[in-house]
Amino acid sequence: MIALASLVAGRPVAHGPLLEVRSPYSGQVVGTVVQANRADTERAIAGAAAFRATPTRYQRAEILEKTRVALEARREEFARTISSEAGLALREGRYEVGRTIDVLRFAAMETLRDDGQIFSCDISAQGKPRKIFTTREPLRCAAAITPFNHPLNQVAHKVGPAIAAGTPLVLKPSEKTPLVALLFAALLHEAGLPGPMLSVLLGPTAEVAELLVRHPEVEVVAFTGSVPVGKRIAATAGYKKLVLELGGNDPLIVLDDADLDLAVTLAAEGSYRNSGQRCTAVKRILVQAGIAPEFTRRLAERTREYVCGDPLDEATRVGTVIDEASAIQLEAVVREAVAAGARVIAGGNRRGALMEPTVIVDVPRDCRMVVSESFGPLAPVMVVRDLDDALEVANSTAYGLSSGVVTTNLNSAMKAIRTLRCGTVNINEVPGFRVESSPFGGIKDSGLGIKEGVVEAIKGYSFVKTFSLPW
Ligand code: NAP
Repeated sequence: MIALASLVAGRPVAHGPLLEVRSPYSGQVVGTVVQANRADTERAIAGAAAFRATPTRYQRAEILEKTRVALEARREEFARTISSEAGLALREGRYEVGRTIDVLRFAAMETLRDDGQIFSCDISAQGKPRKIFTTREPLRCAAAITPFNHPLNQVAHKVGPAIAAGTPLVLKPSEKTPLVALLFAALLHEAGLPGPMLSVLLGPTAEVAELLVRHPEVEVVAFTGSVPVGKRIAATAGYKKLVLELGGNDPLIVLDDADLDLAVTLAAEGSYRNSGQRCTAVKRILVQAGIAPEFTRRLAERTREYVCGDPLDEATRVGTVIDEASAIQLEAVVREAVAAGARVIAGGNRRGALMEPTVIVDVPRDCRMVVSESFGPLAPVMVVRDLDDALEVANSTAYGLSSGVVTTNLNSAMKAIRTLRCGTVNINEVPGFRVESSPFGGIKDSGLGIKEGVVEAIKGYSFVKTFSLPW
């Protein structure tokens, strides 16, 4: 049992109602958090906005590096905390800690990189012999709100770039997975991060999250989460910068010329890793008719290798989804598809918050399972005539986050890259493939096209000032 408290400017909140965090697998309480209230939120914002002693680039890079080293030393403890509170299999917790280590490393590197530009002004008949210089300056106060599905890495993707930019941040992690976020914040403060540069608040939505979103002193809200909450934030935030990373419904297109082994591996890994709870998980498998029977047979066979069970058991490959209510919802979506003519050919059973990796074939194109985001280990297969048909189906939902295409034909790959309306196209990879520094983010309902990833996210937490000199 881990007992923690919300942090205002690096200091634990002493009194407040306790939030109990339960294992989605066992139902047991794995930790508690002292919650913050409206006054704590106001104090965190005021402390951030008044803070002027920004550490130098060297000092900020050192804080990030020291945190990385400390996390390396405690990686197993962090991985187990993720598995305990999120129900994700231990291998997923370990993978996530590895990704977070990358975020810290890349953020430290970017902190040291000067990002200024120089514009000579004698290049135009209207110009003058002067130069314009650019410099990036921190914002006064940023707010970040994160989801449950990558409880550590999502937090690192907000905090790391904010520190690199020198911008104080107030973080509101998911109430379902606050423990690893608070442990991570403690590492940063122990590594020398000044208190006011990071507060971590758990508490009632109206007193914490909604207050952060609306507060006039908050200059940017960086939100990762669902479409409905993202749109609500867009409607209520008022005059401030918004970085919205929302839901996805990513297709994996498998063409007749694909390497079939690779296609099956990508479909299974893309659909089941992280219990299918990645914004970029494969949510629709669009297979060309010629290879569809062989592909689905092999995918069903492969699916049976994904042992689903106790997240802390080393043999488990797929843990629970975030709670039983979500698993029940997934079960309902499968039932609905079956009622509309689909067939379950592997998995399909639920036990508590455990949802088996499930292959569903003959899924009608207008089924809820494939039109909206189904956040769990489901692999719906839809047969398409050709590349054009696949691209049309792929583009037909409200989402536009990422995509994958499995083909050996460069012309098909290039056509897909040009035609898919989404933030990323990965050829012969899962939609979720990325490195932590590369630009990441969606369009349409998946986001406003403003990217994250360490390099881009730093831009969100800073503004460009230009100055000019007569030399
Ligand atoms: P969610 O329900 O939208 O919650 C996300 C965060 O928003 C949580 O911290 C939540 O707090 C908070 N929140 C709830 N109501 C709010 C309000 N009225 N104002 C401000 N904040 C509010 O999402 P989730 O279920 O945790 O996460 C799954 C979703 O995230 C999926 O749709 C997934 O696709 C998306 N996601 C997107 C990306 C991306 O990069 N595009 C990455 C990962 C996940 P509480 O926990 O206290 O309710």
